[in-house]
Amino acid sequence: MRSVVIAGASLAGFSAAQALRKRGFDGTITVVGEEAHLPYQRPPLSKQFLCGEWDRSRLGLRIADGLKLEWLLDARAAALDPQRREVVLADGRRLPFDGLVVATGARARRPGWWVELGGVFTLRTVDDAQALRAHLASGGRKVVIVGAGFIGSEAAASLRSLGHDVTLVDIDPVPMHRVLGEDLGRACLRLHESHGVHPLFGAAVDAIVGSTSVEGVRLRDGRVIEADCVIVGVGAVPNVEWLRGSGLVLDDGVVCDSTCAALGAERVVAAGDVASWTHPHYGQLRIEHWENAIAQGDAAAATLLAAPGAGRPYAPVPFFWSDQYGCKLQLVGSPRRGDAMRVVEGAMDERRFVAVFERDSQLTGVFLFNSVHRVAAYRQTVAAAWAGLTAGAEA
Ligand SMILES: Cc1cc2nc3c(=O)[nH]c(=O)nc-3n(C[C@H](O)[C@H](O)[C@H](O)COP(=O)(O)OP(=O)(O)OC[C@H]3O[C@@H](n4cnc5c(N)ncnc54)[C@H](O)[C@@H]3O)c2cc1C
Repeated sequence: MRSVVIAGASLAGFSAAQALRKRGFDGTITVVGEEAHLPYQRPPLSKQFLCGEWDRSRLGLRIADGLKLEWLLDARAAALDPQRREVVLADGRRLPFDGLVVATGARARRPGWWVELGGVFTLRTVDDAQALRAHLASGGRKVVIVGAGFIGSEAAASLRSLGHDVTLVDIDPVPMHRVLGEDLGRACLRLHESHGVHPLFGAAVDAIVGSTSVEGVRLRDGRVIEADCVIVGVGAVPNVEWLRGSGLVLDDGVVCDSTCAALGAERVVAAGDVASWTHPHYGQLRIEHWENAIAQGDAAAATLLAAPGAGRPYAPVPFFWSDQYGCKLQLVGSPRRGDAMRVVEGAMDERRFVAVFERDSQLTGVFLFNSVHRVAAYRQTVAAAWAGLTAGAEA
């Protein structure tokens, strides 16, 4: 293999590039990125950068000398030609490859009622965050945040720290409901309330109201919540459209086997938010988190360099963190809706606790609230629980 093209110049793509070099690949690596920027960190966009604690210069990822990467930025991969093994760019250029890493990530979901209007934002890219910061700069904004997942919740915390008036709206009964469930979500709700957020849960948004700039958000029950800034944080959509018709299997991401090899083509792998792979423990899984993008970039690179069919299964213990109001929230594993939850250390009211999720008496995940010192141990516990299950299944 002499040439690798990496589509997507962000965390997973850059991690794959680094891993290829670390593993001795000395052919050409071309990294194609739709954004005009070299890879940067997204997590601070809703945290330190939004608060103004960090400036733009702190966001960039460190790119070591000597990696010999060819960057094609501000360039969109528009198609994959599987016969000629070429990535076709939107401007018509064709990039032949021996190996391809798909790392085109995800974009902010725009619901049916989305409108392009002054004061309406999503928060996915540094350009989004810079535009939002500029809009907020005059201070004293009346902000409605639609979606109380982790990005919406973090944005609420950051904007309260800047003194803006914040209403947090979600169709679910509590924040982060889909990941954490009702009881832990209620603890998150109390956190928002104690910092002066106006909560509006179980409320469906119907429309954004305004003529030249946003004036409010209309709910399905007819109420209009006044706003001069609206942030829509209702999930992300994997960027796979450019691969339609390429023969790759697409289904909520690029479908891969357990080694991150894409189904439907030779020597094509996927990593990060765009990859849906067969996790040996959880089955088909797509993870939209920082640590996975790094680790899966590495795993995908290893598979690309291995002999066909000789890649190793990628089986991480899923992990993410979120920072809200100075509190650290961490989730280990991948609990599913309906798993039983119980607090095993500390207490929710003390805002320092650990809760475990179980299904059929098996540990599926651990949630840590302001308990950073315990996370390493619980990661081992979850991994050991799987190992026990696997051993049990094999006996
Ligand atoms: C505001 C925010 C806060 C976050 N906070 C946390 C956190 O606290 N903890 C955590 O674990 N995770 C967090 N995340 C998630 C984490 O940042 C992502 O999981 C990670 O960025 C995924 O990396 P990726 O490289 O797979 O995808 P992305 O970062 O989405 O990068 C994909 C890149 O591909 C480019 N691209 C797309 N289509 C094409 C194309 N056709 N051609 C060329 N390029 C293309 C995109 O422009 C983009 O630059 C946060 C994300 C956001 C947005």
